[in-house]
Amino acid sequence: DLGSDVEVDAEVAEDVDEDDLLGGLRIDSTDEIDVPDRLVDQVIGQEHARDVVMKAAKQRRHVMMIGSPGTGKSMLAKAMSELLPPEELQDVLVYHNPDDGNNPKVRTVPAGKGEQIVEAHKEEARKRNQMRSFLMWIIIAIVIGYSFIIAGQILLGILAAGVIYLAFRYGSRGGDAMVPNLIVNNADTTTAPFEDATGAHAGALLGDVRHDPFQSGGMETPSHDRVEPGAIHKANKGVLFIDEINTLDIRSQQHLMTAIQEGEFHITGQSERSSGAMVQTEPVPTDFIMIAAGNLDAMENMHPALRSRIKGYGYEVYMDDTIEDTPEMRRKYARFVAQEVAKDGRLPEYSAEAIEEVILEARRRAGRKGHLTLKLRNLGGLVRVAGDIARSEDADFVTRDHVLQAKGRSRSIEQQLADDYIERRKDYELQVSEGYQVGRVNGLAVMGEDSGIMLPVMAEVTPSQGPGEVIATGQLKEMAQEAVSNVSAIIKKFSDENISEKDIHIQFVQTGQQGVDGDSASITVATAVISALEGVGVDQSLAMTGSLSVRGDVLPVGGVTHKIEAAAKSGCDRVIIPAANTQDVMIEEEYEQMVEIIPVSHISEVLDIALEGEPEKDSLVDRLKSITGSALSQGENV
Ligand code: ADP
Repeated sequence: DLGSDVEVDAEVAEDVDEDDLLGGLRIDSTDEIDVPDRLVDQVIGQEHARDVVMKAAKQRRHVMMIGSPGTGKSMLAKAMSELLPPEELQDVLVYHNPDDGNNPKVRTVPAGKGEQIVEAHKEEARKRNQMRSFLMWIIIAIVIGYSFIIAGQILLGILAAGVIYLAFRYGSRGGDAMVPNLIVNNADTTTAPFEDATGAHAGALLGDVRHDPFQSGGMETPSHDRVEPGAIHKANKGVLFIDEINTLDIRSQQHLMTAIQEGEFHITGQSERSSGAMVQTEPVPTDFIMIAAGNLDAMENMHPALRSRIKGYGYEVYMDDTIEDTPEMRRKYARFVAQEVAKDGRLPEYSAEAIEEVILEARRRAGRKGHLTLKLRNLGGLVRVAGDIARSEDADFVTRDHVLQAKGRSRSIEQQLADDYIERRKDYELQVSEGYQVGRVNGLAVMGEDSGIMLPVMAEVTPSQGPGEVIATGQLKEMAQEAVSNVSAIIKKFSDENISEKDIHIQFVQTGQQGVDGDSASITVATAVISALEGVGVDQSLAMTGSLSVRGDVLPVGGVTHKIEAAAKSGCDRVIIPAANTQDVMIEEEYEQMVEIIPVSHISEVLDIALEGEPEKDSLVDRLKSITGSALSQGENV
């Protein structure tokens, strides 16, 4: 049975306290946790993908894995190779073809035989060469002797000897041509091969024939000796893993498809003008299991025929980003720390408190209540950085403090950029976090995957000459237009103001920052527009995030935790978030004291909180502030 579910091998308390961060494990350090031998048993979470991989290994099916980076795709692919029977492995030899030098012959033999064959050929060649040199020296001796003693011509004798020597050297190259080229050697392989061809160029994937600068004149390397295997050949009887499958060029995807279909693929030179392009071997076996991976858009951009091939002859699985936070799972995360320490090999063991801190971080990074993150490559990075800090201090164990220090250091590029950005904006006083201003709202955006920044929005409304326009610049233009059109629908209901007769200018106060995702700023834009329209100030000590529906509902957005932290860092006192996101808030303690979090579900609440003072009776703001979602939807078919 391949699918034994390995429990954590260490002492576990009888009745586990639900809140116990170690899930009841009674240990002092990772030293007491046993790491399972098989890679497949080391995989945390991803139950579904794990089952599929084990099933596919038995049935020799291909697998398509879709999911976030660092969630265990290549780990599972490698684990699959360990599950395949190593008895079937083969060696592949390429031979000179005496009939056609450009069409080398291919021979497949059981693993280990290849080396023996090459040795035997070499031995034979050596013997032949010995014979030849022996013969050569005899002839040279005779020639020199003859010229010297009998004819008395010293110079001529030496010259003749030289010619004979060269003739023999050249001639012996023909002997080497008989030695086959061992392109796949599995003599010392104990598990089926695992080939990672992510980002491989055509030659590395499909094999290649090296260029020969000396194409004639007896100096050339015989073509069979220039043949190099590709990942598809080295993966024979094993696993071929390709991440970011969509980035593989179409021609390579087509060839890959042929290799999968035929189970063999000849090797030829990949660069057209090289002498290697003239050479084409007989087909070389490519009987691998393919694991293609990527994120969701990989599916869209990948060759449809290749995808349907995998689908038709295999499985597609989706990788989880998070997993439910249970005592059992926390025990597995403790084992994960032990695994990463063991894998690195140089780190001190983790103390129990340090493991707890890593598990807390896994909770925080999940961005979802009651879950732990499965982006374990990054979490493993944290484990290593903390370990390195401990090691540099010659500490016996990694402590909680080391992990806390590491959290500061292992910030992603985006987080470092965001920090730098916040600092810089403070210098330029672009940041306003007190007082009131008309038409200016502190929005929040996500940068990269794991950091937030404050992104102020300014709106100005001017009478239009022609039909009104929404004027916004930059990458957030579309979002701004959509937000304005949603807010216009709401305004139309409650006011005589026809904003379609006005020009609305929207500006994102952003100093050319790349990679900002502002999709969730629509309540920010709406608030700025209403403030500008009515000339009412907006509280600048407040930041907000949320998406707006045509009915004025505030809809959930991503990255709330990072956004709240960014607002706190930028000096805001209060943050508005969609009520539906309340359960995703996992902010760190240090920020909890700094900001008040206000969940809202309707734009009227946003205005009530954000706008200055009491609105004049019957003004647009007054009416908008007093409405509710149901009032808005009256008269509509809901
Ligand atoms: P992907 O291929 O999805 O980008 P990898 O499989 O290369 O991610 O993961 C990188 C490393 O992160 C692994 O070698 C392992 O140490 C750790 N890791 C990732 N996912 C898991 C998991 N589900 N269980 C245990 N370790 C994991």
